[in-house]
Amino acid sequence: MATTPDTSVSALARYEPVIGLEVHVQLLTASKIFCSCSTRFGDPPNSNVCPVCLGLPGALPVLNRKAVEFAVLAAMAINCRINQTSIFARKNYFYPDLPKGYQISQYDKPLAEHGWIQIPAGSGTKKIGITRLHLEEDAGKSLHEGFPDSQEKTAIDLNRSGVPLIEIVSEPDIASPEEAYEYLTRLKEIILYTGVSDVNMEEGSLRCDANVSVRPRGQKEFGTKTEVKNVNSFRFIREALEYEIDRQIGVVESGGKITQETRLYNPNEGKTYGMRSKEEAHDYRYFPEPDLLPLVVDENWQQEIRKTLPELPEARRERMIAEYGITPQDAQVLTTSKSLADQFEAAAKAAKNPKRVANLVQGELMGRLKAKGLEIEQSPISMKGVAFSADLTESGAISSKMLKDLYDLSFERGKDFPAVYDEEGRPQQSSDTSALEKIIDQVIAANSKEAEQYRAGKKTVIGFFVGQVMKLSKGQANPQLVNQLLAKKLDS
Ligand code: ADP
Ligand code: ZN
Ligand code: MG
Repeated sequence: MATTPDTSVSALARYEPVIGLEVHVQLLTASKIFCSCSTRFGDPPNSNVCPVCLGLPGALPVLNRKAVEFAVLAAMAINCRINQTSIFARKNYFYPDLPKGYQISQYDKPLAEHGWIQIPAGSGTKKIGITRLHLEEDAGKSLHEGFPDSQEKTAIDLNRSGVPLIEIVSEPDIASPEEAYEYLTRLKEIILYTGVSDVNMEEGSLRCDANVSVRPRGQKEFGTKTEVKNVNSFRFIREALEYEIDRQIGVVESGGKITQETRLYNPNEGKTYGMRSKEEAHDYRYFPEPDLLPLVVDENWQQEIRKTLPELPEARRERMIAEYGITPQDAQVLTTSKSLADQFEAAAKAAKNPKRVANLVQGELMGRLKAKGLEIEQSPISMKGVAFSADLTESGAISSKMLKDLYDLSFERGKDFPAVYDEEGRPQQSSDTSALEKIIDQVIAANSKEAEQYRAGKKTVIGFFVGQVMKLSKGQANPQLVNQLLAKKLDS
């Protein structure tokens, strides 16, 4: 059980948290950033390696064009300015999973700068600045566990060495763990829409380091920050920040000083632990990578890339709300992934009445999914199925009661709407006038008081009669037709 410390309200009234996030995202290129080795996840250890990504002497890097295009696209999606010329640099440090002894990254001339994304905050929104987005290569992976003889060993898998990454560094604009959570959620969604990464935290294609400090409210200067590394879910990052803010306030309140250090979060305990202080930290001795030319992404190339930028989730939600008259919450659900939003819109546009499709998703689909604990991607009724059912109600072929019953059957059988509709023999609501007239006569005879009221001018009573006729027809009657026939009978 995580025991998140109680950040007392009074302490937070006196202290202000300052948070900046560094996010690494793996790009979905087929090959690595400086060689032609495959980036496939889950292959046997050390099977996707060559002299370049093994760091053998004399091997020379060749930049992957696709990685550049993906990085530029991501940068555009988060409103960054692209630098026409950026420079690769060597970041020197020793670690067993880094065979070259340096990582090729970008330093003082990154690919892109000055971006922002919008997050919900309070009842409105807030812009979080993005300092920079740069390209770099990933390191290999050390495996410390899982040896059959339970000996203390470390194995190295260099398949990940040289996989392309972008690092996205935020401004220290984030003012609470909740805002950090929102920032990460939005950022992940935007990147997913661009298609440059699958941003899968389990497979390590999205990683986040969280920097946090506190300062007395009203103070201009930042406090000393700590950096929480290797946290593997957005929820844990929020928890780690809550703990860390509380801890730092505690230290400052008791007259202590925060040491600038890297800390690790233990989700089982809900606590962070110091890992290494800045004094022990590396001096990376950055210098320009002599084996690579400056990267030039000129105006033309930028324009070409910008053409491939899809409509992004926030803009899409706004448009869908206006176009289909759906609620913001439903727009949120329908844009969970780009493919779901595409499916919904394709189905809605092909239907006779797009708004009816949206209404059915809201009115009939969501509730049933929730009751079954299903995500919309797991729905037995596809967006095409919803559109099909919408057309049947639109044309009057089935009543809304029949539609509800067919939806229930779809969920019971785990089959899409058109299949169940076929299995049920393509039922039609009754438009058999003479059969309906019989029912109507019956109903009027049995409710003479209401018939009087109607004839005396209380026209709304017709709703009562429609209800009775629908009931007797077991929901099979066409309500419009019933209405029409009833009015004729009662008026005569
Ligand atoms: P470093 O040189 O230690 O890596 P940077 O200046 O590159 O620090 O910043 C790294 C991240 O930390 C950025 O996201 C930045 O917004 C954030 N940051 C910088 N200073 C602070 C601070 N005092 N408190 C919280 N976050 C900070
Ligand atoms: Zn290689
Ligand atoms: Mg830094």
